[in-house]
Amino acid sequence: MKRALCWVRRDLRLHDHFALSEALKNADETIVAFIFDELILEKLHNKNDPRVSIIMDSLREMETQLQKYSSSLIVRFGNPVEEIPKLIAEYKIDGLFFNRDYEPYAKKRDSEIEQILLAQKKAVYTFKDHVFFEKNEILNGSGEIYKVFTPYKNKWLETFRAQEEFIPEYKCNLKKLYPIKNSKNIIDHDWLHEIAFLETPCVLTGGSKEALKRLNTFREFIENYKEARDVPALEQTSNLSSYIRMGNLSVRDMIRLAVEKRNSGYETWLSEIIWRDFYQVILDAYPRVDKHCFRPEYDNIKWLGSKKDFQAWCDGQTGYPLVDAAMRCLNTTGMMHNRLRMVVASFLTKTLLIDWRLGERYFAEKLLDYDMAANNGGWQWSASTGVDAQPYFRIFNPYNQSEKFDPEGIYIRQWCPELSRFSNKTIHSPHDTEIFEQVEAKCFVGKDYPAPIVGYKQQRDRALAMYKAVK
Ligand SMILES: Cc1cc2nc3c(=O)[nH]c(=O)nc-3n(C[C@H](O)[C@H](O)[C@H](O)COP(=O)(O)OP(=O)(O)OC[C@H]3O[C@@H](n4cnc5c(N)ncnc54)[C@H](O)[C@@H]3O)c2cc1C
Repeated sequence: MKRALCWVRRDLRLHDHFALSEALKNADETIVAFIFDELILEKLHNKNDPRVSIIMDSLREMETQLQKYSSSLIVRFGNPVEEIPKLIAEYKIDGLFFNRDYEPYAKKRDSEIEQILLAQKKAVYTFKDHVFFEKNEILNGSGEIYKVFTPYKNKWLETFRAQEEFIPEYKCNLKKLYPIKNSKNIIDHDWLHEIAFLETPCVLTGGSKEALKRLNTFREFIENYKEARDVPALEQTSNLSSYIRMGNLSVRDMIRLAVEKRNSGYETWLSEIIWRDFYQVILDAYPRVDKHCFRPEYDNIKWLGSKKDFQAWCDGQTGYPLVDAAMRCLNTTGMMHNRLRMVVASFLTKTLLIDWRLGERYFAEKLLDYDMAANNGGWQWSASTGVDAQPYFRIFNPYNQSEKFDPEGIYIRQWCPELSRFSNKTIHSPHDTEIFEQVEAKCFVGKDYPAPIVGYKQQRDRALAMYKAVK
């Protein structure tokens, strides 16, 4: 093939990239392109979105690398269904290469593009890159998709071992890039202005360099991951989710580290990466989960919660310190520890009795690592409406979670500074303290920090009845 176009989307890197590697191998010259998808961007109402900064960092890093090979990243803004065929014509491309995406919108868009190009007798090649195993590779004895994680994971590991733990690395020979002079490149042209977003600071720097550095740093912690991963104040998880979401590193980069040694830390981390594959498979196979409960009977739940309580949850003003600390952290940084995601999701659905879809949408707006499959999976797991979810009667007690996972209140003090003078014992439920303790802590519950907006025990009973009504 003379000329290939590699369209990068959520795989913003130039190493270990299946589609790019194949384009470079099979064509004399390859062009790399990125489209700011107007249909995705118009849904982001906040034009100060730090995730756009991560994308810009990633694209700039790619551009710098491409320029070293006298090439450039072609950037467009619009509907990819129109923009890709235009690029194909403009650059006289023979074949389009891209990595598969499993979100419903992306699948529809990609299939439309494929149809248009095939009608023009252009070749389209798609690749498995975003996950390690796709939906048809890990099936149960009846040839069906697993709906329970543990047997899925066992089969995943069995399949991996059967291939002698072979992890392909898709090397990219950038010497075969097409030379381009591009005045509208991502570094010199004001693309932020063109897409109508604003420069927004972000707690993370995007790009592969930073992602691979973090992966390497995590090597220091992975040994203890099994024990440390549940304690937010320790900050000893990898913090790679935003990078894997944008594709600054490949899932294979992560798995290579996960199998470096065989001990509980490494194995538990690999297990989390398998959860990621699992939820991608579920979304791919059951796209309806985007709007509906995986277990249809739960779509009949009459959620009893109020708008006011939802707002208090969003603002970190519920009077439950660990929940408030986690939500304030999310609002400020766009990040939240996995244990706390489970705590706040359980709290929203089973203590405030609010539909998981509202929480899911809020996370989608705020999380730097927002990923439809993982977010939907996590929310439906917490709300007990999902595939292999926890049973509906398992309701996290926010006080116990707080005492267990933030025993010294370090995390609470960081995000709810008004509570910082309470003791390690009282900080988890300051409303239970005597008035003299509040005087000492210089924090009056109901004035400086909210009293609990609902009572946990009473709401627990209401939650059980609410769920039971549709069983
Ligand atoms: C309600 C809820 C919503 C969530 N929303 C998202 C989301 O939008 N995006 C997202 O990437 N993760 C989501 N998760 C999963 C998990 O919380 C994050 O992946 C994790 O906190 C990211 O931190 P880390 O990179 O330090 O993870 P680590 O603990 O270091 O794990 C390594 C990687 O494994 C993957 N992973 C870990 N746990 C899970 C999981 N439970 N499900 C799927 N993948 C996992 C991630 O890619 C992560 O980067 C959600 C979980 C819950 C309970």
